[in-house]
Amino acid sequence: MPEPRPEPSVDPSFPPEAAEERCFVCDLCGQTFDGLPEGSGLFMWTRGSEVRTEEPPLCRACASRLVLGAFHVYQDDSSEG
Ligand SMILES: [Zn+2]
Repeated sequence: MPEPRPEPSVDPSFPPEAAEERCFVCDLCGQTFDGLPEGSGLFMWTRGSEVRTEEPPLCRACASRLVLGAFHVYQDDSSEG
């Protein structure tokens, strides 16, 4: 006898409205923080002809550090030319 299939429904433990209330784990320092991430990194890689991107959440400290680091690299690049 086949068991009755449960109705397809959204997991009640993760209501969409609570998405902004969830915790994030910083991808760089691993610290857990509440609320929305201050920023995100960007991973980009290719698999054959497919380009994939991923934006891991970052805490405020790591986000600003990453931005400053990128700015520093950009300045180094531009001063050479
Ligand atoms: Zn961090």
